[in-house]
Amino acid sequence: MKCKYCDETFTEDDDLVLNYFEHTKINHYESLSDEDRIMHDIRENMIKSKINHDKFKKETGDSDLFFNSNDSDTV
Ligand SMILES: [Zn+2]
Repeated sequence: MKCKYCDETFTEDDDLVLNYFEHTKINHYESLSDEDRIMHDIRENMIKSKINHDKFKKETGDSDLFFNSNDSDTV
């Protein structure tokens, strides 16, 4: 996957999306429009909460039910 704003390329692995967002934030955040910044922040938060969810699942086992019951409180 190639960066939208420069020639940086990203390895296709589990952290691809997060790496891409980190890169955009560090290198291109200044050049984003206000709207793009808002979208960036929203999507980054979604990605991070998904990663936390996956980590949580790994630590606690099969706890989808537990997580989902709390989901509406955290959004
Ligand atoms: Zn870039």
